Formats: sequence, C-alpha cells, structure tokens
Amino acid sequence: MSANKEVAIIGAGPAGLITGSILKKAGFTITLFEQRNCLGGSWAIQPLSELIDIRDGLSGIYCPTYPTLRCNVPRQTMALPDFPYPDDYPCYPRHDEVLSQLQRFAEHNGLLPHIRFNHRFLTLEASPKSGLTNGNPKRWQIQTSQNSAEFDAVVFCNSRYYYPKLPDLEPLLSFTGRLEHSFSYRGPAAYRNQRIALVGTGPSGEDLSREISHCASRVFLCAHSGSRELHKPIWKPYGANQNLTRHRDVIACNGRTVILENGEKLQDIDVLILCTGYQPDPVFRQALPGIELSGDKSCMAPLYLNLFHPVHPELSATGMTLASAPFILYHCQAEVIAGYLKGKIQLPTAQQRLFAAEQVELRSSGRVNFSVRRKISMKQLDQLANMASIPSPVKATVEALAISNKQRLKYPDHYRDLPWGSE
Ligand SMILES: Cc1cc2nc3c(=O)[nH]c(=O)nc-3n(C[C@H](O)[C@H](O)[C@H](O)COP(=O)(O)OP(=O)(O)OC[C@H]3O[C@@H](n4cnc5c(N)ncnc54)[C@H](O)[C@@H]3O)c2cc1C
Repeated sequence: MSANKEVAIIGAGPAGLITGSILKKAGFTITLFEQRNCLGGSWAIQPLSELIDIRDGLSGIYCPTYPTLRCNVPRQTMALPDFPYPDDYPCYPRHDEVLSQLQRFAEHNGLLPHIRFNHRFLTLEASPKSGLTNGNPKRWQIQTSQNSAEFDAVVFCNSRYYYPKLPDLEPLLSFTGRLEHSFSYRGPAAYRNQRIALVGTGPSGEDLSREISHCASRVFLCAHSGSRELHKPIWKPYGANQNLTRHRDVIACNGRTVILENGEKLQDIDVLILCTGYQPDPVFRQALPGIELSGDKSCMAPLYLNLFHPVHPELSATGMTLASAPFILYHCQAEVIAGYLKGKIQLPTAQQRLFAAEQVELRSSGRVNFSVRRKISMKQLDQLANMASIPSPVKATVEALAISNKQRLKYPDHYRDLPWGSE
C-alpha cells in the first residue's frame, strides 16, 4: 500500500492527534472522526450537572476528567512528537494545561480542518463497491452518526480510557446508597460530611480517596490483596483529616452496609465509588472481525504487536497495551503504522501475525505483576521504535518514571509539587 491513501482515524484525543500528525506528514489523506464537539479526549473536561448512579447508566458521559486532575506521570513521559511543552509548564501539568498543549499541537500540525466533530463511529464493514484483493477487502466503509465514507485504512484511536470497566455488579445491587464509578467523579465537595467507600487502588482510587478525605467525614479505600499498589499501603489512618483507612475488597452489600472479603462490615456508607478502571467501548470490538476483549479486560485482542488486526493489518488500534507513557507509545505506534501503510515496513504473514498476537495475549492476560507488565510494554516500545527506525524512547522514559515513582512512594500527597528529582 503506497502513500496518498485515505486513512480514517477514530478519535481526536492524544492518540488520534499524534497519529494524525504522523500520517499527515507521511503524505496520507487523513480524516479524524470525533464523537464530541471538541478535541483532547480525556483531557477535555465535561462538566456534569448531577451525581450519577451507575445503575441508571453512564451514556452521554465521555470524559473521566475532574477539575483538580493533574498528571500522575511527569510531562517528559507525555511528550508530543516534535512539540515540546512550554518551559514554564509544571512537571505534572493540570488537565487544562495538557489540553492547551494538545490544541496547540493540533493547530501547529494543521489537523483542525481534518477533524469531523460530532461524528460518532458506529460500524465498519468491507466496502461493497471496491471488491477484493486475494480475498481481502480493498477498502473499508465507516458508518458514523452523520454519514458513511470509504477508506483504505482505519486507525482506531478511541482509547481504553473512557469506557468504565465494571466488576460484577450483582453483589453490589442491594446497596441502598449511591453507587458511582470514578468516571463521573467531578470533585470532593459532593461528599461533604459523608461516609465514602472506594474500590480500587490504581491511580483513580489513590487520588480520589485522598482528595475526598478533605471533605468527607470518613473514607474507606478497599482492594483485594495483590491488586495494583500505586502507593505504599498504609495500615493506619491517614488522609487530610486522618479519616482515611485501607481495607480488603468488597464482596457484598446489605442496605448501606458494605461487606468485605475478610468479614469486616463498613456501616452507614453513603456512596460507594468504583475506581475499577477503563476498557475499550464494545462498539469497537464488535466492529473489528475476530477481535475481543483481552484476558485482563482492559484492551482489545488479539492484535499483532498489540496494534495491527492480524488478518487485516490496514486496520489498527492504538494504545491496546499496558503503557506507563501512552503519548510516547502512540508516537511509536503511529510511525509503525505509517511505515507499514507506505510499504516501508513489512509484516509477517497473516498466520504468523495471528500466532504472535495470540502468544502476546496469552503472556499478558491474567494477574501478571505490574512491573513485569511494564517491562513487557517497554520491550514492545523498543521493538516499535526499531521497526520505525526512530530513536528508542525507552531509556529516557524508564529513567523519568523511576524518578517519579520514587518521589510518589515517598511523598504520596505532594510528589507533584516537588522539584524534579529531589530526594
Ligand atoms: C483519570 C485519568 C487520569 C489520567 N492521567 C494520565 C496522566 O497523567 N498521564 C498520561 O499519560 N495518561 C493519563 N491517563 C490516560 C489518558 O487517558 C491517556 O494518556 C490519553 O488521554 C489517552 O489518549 P487517547 O487518545 O488514547 O484516548 P482519549 O483521551 O480517551 O481520547 C479518545 C477519543 O476518542 C473519542 N471516541 C471514542 N469513541 C468514539 C466513537 N465511537 N466515535 C468517535 N470518537 C470516539 C473520544 O471522544 C475521545 O475524544 C489518565 C486517564 C484517566 C482516566
């Protein structure tokens, strides 16, 4: 497949913008389809006028950002291709600062005329008009909420960060307080003087519990043992008013009592917030033939290099792997997509791609230790950079993340405000 082909990019968040900039520079005709009326994806805040109980559904919510959100990794691990952050930016920018940077990036790269806002991707199918080559479709037809159009290639940049991943809700349905997901969290004031339980010790659970502890009367952070520990677990009261404690996982509810796996009962809970992460929107799994949710339910699989549809590599999906530096991953992935579509990068046969994709999926499914998964993802980042003949970002990324992790573990409440690298 040579350049001057038409490529559709789904989503105008960081991945879509980065991919758009690389493919445009490579000479492809690009169209970005974005369901919202703005670019920036997760970083473009969507105010909510009411508190949402997930039992009432989460449709119409597109963004997990809340007003106080600041990056939890340093800005050098969120680099945009050839577009440095302004010198006066903090090390851990606020969400609106990241958004401004993305807006400037889009303008600088002339992406705005290529974005179709308010176009929600609905379905993908082989173009009925263009016929087949060696049994494979020549072109793909995309149906959006506004119209349909045909493309030579499609890159799904819709992300695994905006569709809430929910646990089995059955044991929680009898909870008579409000049952929320961190997706609709918009600040601590809503929890003033209330008793709040949160589930999950990933970035959202850690950040939200500490923030809510400023307003709530009592905060309980629950997780199963062996779950991802972003901070060192503290087994005595902590938080803004020494009103935050850690507990085992929730297994059932009875009225406003939350029952934990070790038999402990948390009484009079007003709100239970699930900080259980995100996963790709089912609409994309259904669109891509043979692609399902990965074993850990966070990504789409099997994809060759966690990127290419194994049978139809002109279809790809960015970000479908654990990555501690998603922006950098998107850059490498976009370069590899551009190289493949231009014919500069050769991929193995469909059978080999499928075999390799299934092996990777087997390796990374299930409860693999976070640091092992990070190592796997860094290895893959190296591989992508190699394939695209660009300098590997791995060493610098790993070094920056190591400094950041050290500071976060030592100063969980204010690591974002410390001078970079200070002990
Ligand atoms: C609370 C939170 C904090 C985070 N903090 C950090 C951080 O500090 N640093 C970091 O690097 N990462 C962070 N992340 C991850 C962050 O989301 C990614 O870095 C980045 O925003 C992902 O970019 P993306 O373009 O893949 O996805 P998104 O930002 O989610 O953008 C996806 C875009 O696709 C669009 N879209 C989705 N479905 C459709 C459809 N059907 N049709 C058309 N358009 C569609 C969406 O509207 C959106 O604009 C955080 C995530 C969360 C949830």
